[in-house]
Amino acid sequence: MTFPEEPGTRAPGADAAVLTIDLDALGANWRLLRDRSRDGACAAVVKANAYGTGIERAVPALAAAGCRTFFVAQVSEGRRVRRVDPAAEIYLLDGLLPGGAGELVAANLRPVLGSADEVREWVEACGGTALPAALHVDTGMNRLGVPVEEALALRAEGAFAALGDMLLMTHLVVAEDAGHPINARQAAAFRALMRAFPGARTSFSNSSGGFLPDAPACDLARPGYSLYGGNPTPGRENPMRPVVRLEATILQVRDVPAGAGAGYGTHWSAPGPRRLATLALGYADGYPRAAGGTDAKIRAGTPFGQALVGGVRCAFAGVLSMDLTILDVTEAPADAARRGGTAVMIGDGLEIDEVGMRAGTIGYEILTGLGDRYRRVYVGDGTGTATGTATGTGG
Ligand SMILES: *Cc1c(COP(=O)(O)O)cnc(C)c1O
Repeated sequence: MTFPEEPGTRAPGADAAVLTIDLDALGANWRLLRDRSRDGACAAVVKANAYGTGIERAVPALAAAGCRTFFVAQVSEGRRVRRVDPAAEIYLLDGLLPGGAGELVAANLRPVLGSADEVREWVEACGGTALPAALHVDTGMNRLGVPVEEALALRAEGAFAALGDMLLMTHLVVAEDAGHPINARQAAAFRALMRAFPGARTSFSNSSGGFLPDAPACDLARPGYSLYGGNPTPGRENPMRPVVRLEATILQVRDVPAGAGAGYGTHWSAPGPRRLATLALGYADGYPRAAGGTDAKIRAGTPFGQALVGGVRCAFAGVLSMDLTILDVTEAPADAARRGGTAVMIGDGLEIDEVGMRAGTIGYEILTGLGDRYRRVYVGDGTGTATGTATGTGG
């Protein structure tokens, strides 16, 4: 994704919605995770355009904070990280696609190998030079990775002998639920693997895994979501700083009588005389249509979308349109609920975890869906020492 600079659209009154990304908070979050980790070092997962925040801005900020190792999903993302951080260690979580090894060698990217076929192809492509790679062992997700028994058998056959510098890793299934019994099973399986692969670098924890009391101490933590402000300990206080703030402009305000509808499909009707504000942000901006406020949800007590106007929580009225959202601003101060005013969609205590919950999804999907139509404003540089604001293309 690219966000071409369009200086002509930066006049006052031209911004439908503004996405502010605090790179100092991103850097501070990485340092917090590094400092509190039992692991020897901390990487950053920057797949999906750095969880929607922009690879080209997030990676230099994380590097300025001290991060040297990055994980992405796909080759195109790996190339983007390489362009802005020539010295970084970059791992591809998707591993090797058939015939893809040459591409990775040329771009200096490290595959996370997830099958015997991938291991074979990588060893062949390396042509005796022993290039580094990760080995993903599946300890319960049944998604990617070599099953434990097969990993041990391959090791016994010497399949990994030709690999240089191996990172042994697995991935947690429900780390956000610290009490779930599968965490202990995955930890035990990984401890056994660590004994079977002496000398390998090791990596176990995602964001929430770093907060599990029984996670094994490894060489490299692998957080993503928490770097961007997501709560790694759901149900408990969020230890991370917010990174993302989203504000939408109010286009119109109107008063409607009891029983009036709002938006497509008459899914909402006014329970009394209400004041409605129409915002310049819709599902085409990646904000889920499923966050709409409907009579059915109100009857069933199902949570739905909210935004803040003048510091007051206001509920969505009706389903989102492609470019517009209708908000019930009856309780908001009139000087804030006005044409040209702003509604805070993410920020001021409305965290991405809650935004996701109110849309029937998770904060991860809210972040990775952040639209490319927003004006993106980047603050800071990852070190926490810079002053001023950089407006930019973002990546
Ligand atoms: C996405 C991903 C991570 C990061 O997970 P978060 O929950 O975002 O911290 C780590 N490891 C693997 C294998 C992943 O796919």
